Formats: sequence, C-alpha cells, structure tokens
Amino acid sequence: MARVLVIGAGGVSSVCVHKMAFNKDIFTDIRLASRTLSKCDAIAASVKDRAGVEIRTYEIDAEEVPAMVNLIRKVQPALVVNLALPYQDLPIMDACLEAGVDYLDTANYEPKDEAKFEYKWQWAYHDRFKEAGLMALLGSGFDPGVTSVFTMWLKKHKLKTIRQLDILDCNGGDHGQAFATNFNPEINIREVTAPARHWENGEWVETPAMQVRTAFDFEEVGTRNAYLMYHEELESLAKFVPELERARFWMTFGDEYIKHLTVLQNVGMTGIEPIKYQGRDIIPLQFLAAVLPKPETLGETTKGKTNIGVIATGEALDGSGEKTFYINNICDHEEAYRETGNQAVSYTTGVPAMIGSAMVVEGKWQGEGVFNMEEFDPDPFMAMLNEHGLPWDVKELDGPVDF
Ligand code: NDP
Repeated sequence: MARVLVIGAGGVSSVCVHKMAFNKDIFTDIRLASRTLSKCDAIAASVKDRAGVEIRTYEIDAEEVPAMVNLIRKVQPALVVNLALPYQDLPIMDACLEAGVDYLDTANYEPKDEAKFEYKWQWAYHDRFKEAGLMALLGSGFDPGVTSVFTMWLKKHKLKTIRQLDILDCNGGDHGQAFATNFNPEINIREVTAPARHWENGEWVETPAMQVRTAFDFEEVGTRNAYLMYHEELESLAKFVPELERARFWMTFGDEYIKHLTVLQNVGMTGIEPIKYQGRDIIPLQFLAAVLPKPETLGETTKGKTNIGVIATGEALDGSGEKTFYINNICDHEEAYRETGNQAVSYTTGVPAMIGSAMVVEGKWQGEGVFNMEEFDPDPFMAMLNEHGLPWDVKELDGPVDF
C-alpha cells in the first residue's frame, strides 16, 4: 500500500524497519538511508533473513538538505520516517517540505550547541506544512509517543479531566556492563544531565538534575529509584491537556549508573562545549560517546524488563468522583532481542514508530500541518500496540500517587 523512506540505521531504526517488513500489507516498499551504508545493509540483511523482505539502501547525510531532497524525489515515498538523531529533525523537515512528502519522528529537535529540547522549533513549521498540504507527526516513540497516547486514551475512556499525571519509565534490564546507555549515549547523557522540570499550576518548576527521587515498585521488575527529569512530552501534554495541575516525568537509574555519571560530570567528560585536544577541537561528550559501548551491541546480553506507564488522577467520566488509573506496558529485553535482534529500549521506540507510520500512510490519522500524538484518536494506535508486541494493561489504583 505505501512506500516509506526511513532515515537512520541505529537500534530504533532496526526495530522499526523489521516491524514494517513484518507488516508488508501496509508497508509494501521499505527504503532505508543513513550516514553509514554498511549499517543500512546489515539491517537489510537481517530483515531479509527474518521477514523475507528485500530493502533498498542508500547513503545520505541527512543534514545536507539538497541531497535529502534528491533522495526523496528519487524514492518518491509516501512518508519519510526520521529515526536519525534529533539534530537532523529540521533539515529533514525542510527536505520533506521541498519534496512534498509527509514526515514523522520520535524525538524533538535539539540544537547541537545547546542541550535544550523544545517543540518550539518544530511547531514553527506548522503553517508551512499546512500550506503545502502535508502532515508532520512528532514524537512517535514510547516516551514521547505512547505515553501521550496512553494519557489521551484515559481521557477518552476513563477520565473527563486529568488533574495529576505522572509518567514512570523503568528500565529494569541488566546489560552486564559497568556503564552503558541504552540509546544514543550523547542524546541520553544530554537528557539526564539537564535540570529537571515539571509542570505545576500553569508553570514550569525547575530543580537540579537527578536530585528528586522516589522508590516505586514496578510490576515484574521490583522496587527501583525513579528520578524526576524533564522530558519532552510534558510540553505537549501541558498544551493539549490544559486542565493539568501537575505533570511529572520519572526515570529509573541504578546506583552504578548514577555513580559513573557523577564522576564523568565532575571531570568534565559530559561537556558539550568544544575543547582543544592536541591542536584540534573536540567535544568531550562526543569523545565519551565514542568510547562507551554502542547501544546496538547490548541486546545480546541484556536481561530483564522495561515497564513504562502513566498514572493519571481526575474526575471520572461516569460521574463517580475522583479516580486514579495506571496504564502501562511491560517489555522483555530477551524476547525483543529474539524477534528483531535489538534490546527492549530500541524495541519500545521502534514499534511505536512503525505504528505511527501506519497511522499516517493508512490515513487513520490525517491532517495538514505539524501535529503531536495527543491530537489524534488514541484507539487505532492502542489497538496496534496490542497486536504488534507492546500489549498494555490498565488498572484502577486506590488513590492519587503519594510521592
Ligand atoms: P543511534 O545512535 O543508534 O542511531 C542513530 C542513527 O542516525 C545512526 O545510524 C546514525 O548514523 C544516523 N545518523 C546520525 N547523523 C546522521 C546524519 N547526519 N545523516 C544520516 N544519518 C545520521 O540512535 P537510536 O537508534 O538509539 O535512536 C534514534 C532516535 O530515536 C534518536 O533521535 C533518539 O533520540 C530517539 N529515541 C526516542 C525514544 C522515544 O521513546 N521517543 C527513545 C529512544 C530513542 P551512524 O551509524 O553513521 O552513526
């Protein structure tokens, strides 16, 4: 039914492309392009092996807009699926506008020289996409992505209004390494070392990074320390669920991770300002990322589960007063690896990227302009989560969270 062009050949792309190939009735022709052709070819070989589907590959620097435009014109896809890094979001959106094709990504734009992720840069493209009659769908991963869809599903089926929202992201997986990140190390460390921010009574409240924490008992994982962090879906949720009195995001980290990160920060290895090294400029965090284990190599050894969900409190739809619901997915690292050769952090992002792509190319989610996940009917997306490896569960809790 649709030809798609996927950009980027990391763990998330690998999962998404495998899942697209398993759904060849929706994605009849998959093309894959990235900076390093050999990584595209490795994914294509695995997809041929696991799904029996041939994928054509291309080498591209996605920051070169004219080259991207040429590639899009040559391939003529119905949708460009950006699974490269957040730095490439704007050039790929520019290329989509020029070539007249819809766009999707899983992470919002971040300038290289400023560890600041905000939707403002991409929201500013709304009118241009609208005038061109094109659609851009932002943040179709797990968080952001599924967490917003979970919230809107609760708002459609359980709660008339949502007063309080807590997003809880637990990775209970153990990769057996002293220190490694489960997705791109540069992006991951920029995210966790940024100040924490949450939404409260109509404004952002900032606290130092990794200072506020709570212990939470995650089903099928156990009790873990979860740290208050800023995460991009808080911005879109605050916009599209305007009645929210408080919205927070929590992510679990083990003591070993915190210990290593603290030392690396203290010695300046997480800095993003260039420094002179042997006469040339290097960025300490990029050097650190180059020596850390590659996330795509962790799949083989990672054991355990992820458990990511949303706890929402508000006025019940059925008029029964205030209610609290917890909706979540549990994903097993080893099962994820068996299916696509990638661990659960890539899996829980790549599957929603495939589902979001299906929503766009099948016309279940339609629009002209730049859209967030909150703006569409959650039901078809939630149905596909159940069918394609990320089943979810919803339960009522006794009352609002007490942390
Ligand atoms: P990886 O670092 O594994 O993969 C990124 C890929 O992008 C690599 O293949 C890389 O090429 C390619 N790339 C980088 N720069 C360019 C460029 N200029 N032109 C073309 N290709 C380029 O990252 P992940 O797969 O872990 O993550 C992919 C995206 O998913 C990121 O944006 C990340 O932030 C997002 N993400 C979203 C989550 C969510 O839940 N919403 C969760 C986890 C990740 P090369 O191989 O040459 O380095």
